[in-house]
Amino acid sequence: MNSQDYIALDEKYGAHNYHPLPVVISKARGCKVWDPEGREYFDFLSAYSAVNQGHLHPHIVAAAKAQLDTVTLTSRAFHNDRMGPFLKKLCEYTGFEKALPMNTGAEAVETALKAARRWGAEVKGVPNGRQKIICALGNFHGRTIAVISMSNDPDSYINYGPYVPGFVKVPYGDAAAIEQAIDDDTVAVILEPIQGEAGVVVPPEGYLARVREICSSNNVLMILDEIQTGFCRTGKRFAWQYENARPDIMCLGKALGGGIMPISAIVADHSVMDVFTPGTHGSTFGGNPLAGAVGMAAIEVLEQERLEENAYRLGIRFRERIAALHAPRVRLVRGKGLLNAIVFDEGYEAYPVCVALKEKGVLAKQTHGNIIRFAPPLVITEAELDEAVARISEVLLSL
Ligand SMILES: *Cc1c(COP(=O)(O)O)cnc(C)c1O
Repeated sequence: MNSQDYIALDEKYGAHNYHPLPVVISKARGCKVWDPEGREYFDFLSAYSAVNQGHLHPHIVAAAKAQLDTVTLTSRAFHNDRMGPFLKKLCEYTGFEKALPMNTGAEAVETALKAARRWGAEVKGVPNGRQKIICALGNFHGRTIAVISMSNDPDSYINYGPYVPGFVKVPYGDAAAIEQAIDDDTVAVILEPIQGEAGVVVPPEGYLARVREICSSNNVLMILDEIQTGFCRTGKRFAWQYENARPDIMCLGKALGGGIMPISAIVADHSVMDVFTPGTHGSTFGGNPLAGAVGMAAIEVLEQERLEENAYRLGIRFRERIAALHAPRVRLVRGKGLLNAIVFDEGYEAYPVCVALKEKGVLAKQTHGNIIRFAPPLVITEAELDEAVARISEVLLSL
């Protein structure tokens, strides 16, 4: 079978809930992928930042393979010998006291929302049923019913009602709007430190630090969704570190699974995490030994290869090179570390640009029509980045 055949099968048997580029990936390694015809591409999406460590990182693959010969799933009815060491590592890496493992990012967000509501009722003293959580316009936190109830993107929420109540939406990047929205029933504020799906929207400097102050002085939890920005993507371990705006709850996912399997978690200190007691939350697969082994190896790679430093340095190089092109149609390039976006003129359709990039051997995906996100695996070398930028430049200058 060739690429066309595989695409036809997806079209015929799969739900049409995505609009992928017409490319089939059948092999991958590091920051490169190949199609069934043997054509080579740079992966500049990294599965939405789930493969920060690069495809098939040998350390993570070895950990997975070894674990496949011992034990993979126990459920939380019993202890296993992989979860504890993994959670210890995760707490040490993030600087929090406790972790609660789940599987997908949306589940981590749900877990954070539940923790905040319960904390509101049991610690802050808000009557159950009145808890309010403030979220930001333009957010993307996942696809469950509660999570899309926070969304103002019609594609995400339309015709999925009734929606979950208790969310208050305020403009992103405006700390005063959060302060004004807080009342006695407010238990938490949830934000992405950089809005990834919205098109790599970087908030004004000082925003996260100010939100941190507002939350502290109003006895409101600050939840940061670092599912896409976390684990070195933005040039720091976590994006909040740019402003030392340590949240009360941090949502993690994507790269925590090392590109191998879905692994997510929330991390928090005792004062918040202790609201969960036996039977009040859980997941059959959360904390399974295979995830423990893979998650541990995924963090070890980030740590040992100091990927935040590579992301920081090459991110600056990427933005400088693209900006220096002064390409027609390109309004600006923005981002932090290796989470970047090229923003085209208003109304300019970026999908054909992605198809042209694919023809030149660079895979990237547009978001919101006129924006393309560029987020290669963080193991990319300077020479590889330069090669990819040369190909991107060719396309941009031909528009
Ligand atoms: C991808 C993403 C999620 C959802 O993760 P899933 O694993 O797809 O459920 C949540 N928040 C952010 C910021 C994301 O980028």
